[in-house]
Amino acid sequence: MSVKQPKAPSRANGRSRKIGLFGGSFDPIHVGHVAVARAAQRRFHLDHVLFIPLGRPPHKVRHRLAPFPHRFAMVALACAGHPQFVPSLAEAGPKLGGQRVYYSIDTVRHFRHVFHRHGDHLYFILGADSFLKIPMWKEYVALLNSCNFIVASRPGFRSDVLRMVIPRELLGRPHASAASADPHAIALRRTTVHLLDSVASDVSATEVRRRCHRGQSIRGLVPPLIEEYIGKQALYR
Ligand code: ATP
Repeated sequence: MSVKQPKAPSRANGRSRKIGLFGGSFDPIHVGHVAVARAAQRRFHLDHVLFIPLGRPPHKVRHRLAPFPHRFAMVALACAGHPQFVPSLAEAGPKLGGQRVYYSIDTVRHFRHVFHRHGDHLYFILGADSFLKIPMWKEYVALLNSCNFIVASRPGFRSDVLRMVIPRELLGRPHASAASADPHAIALRRTTVHLLDSVASDVSATEVRRRCHRGQSIRGLVPPLIEEYIGKQALYR
């Protein structure tokens, strides 16, 4: 990583922490993202949720994103007032240009280095639509093996399809504990995939951009400060 994350926030009481890693284009960040992060933070008692705007997402290299500084600024605004939400520059790349393609496995390794030496636990947060595409990601078996996952449901998604993208050799572990009794958790050999089905937001960044382009209101689709920022910067017109 060319841009180092600030030192890991200090541990309360010396206990290990739970850290959520929530990557996305965030073009722009919207209320669906915030709802997912809040629900994940509460349900899994996450000490921090790091919002990581992706430089150039590998799956969207042809898609023109708003410049990285704008996407990061909106993420930072959305994190304000949420003590556990931390905007991350981990994928900002050289000169904060957001031009480099990062792969999730490399970002997770980076954060394992930052956090795991303290005995902390990482949770990779993503939507169900993204999880279903995971077999196309770089070193996805290693990724599934390297941290826990929190998969947020999206409207129209059936939870039973989650298992279909997990390689059989990773499924199940001997003496699986609470995870195997939880119908919302899939125990892998070393990690657990948790389904978060308490969020049912059908907001998407595509819809926000489309409405801006048409000159329609985006009230309620993004947090108020983001709506203000998009207006002031004339984004997505
Ligand atoms: P776009 O419409 O441009 O594809 P998006 O709304 O899916 O964008 P991203 O920044 O690509 O937003 O999403 C980051 C992560 O958040 C992804 O894993 C995505 O699946 C998840 N996500 C986005 N919106 C929601 C939502 N409404 N509910 C649950 N997960 C979501």
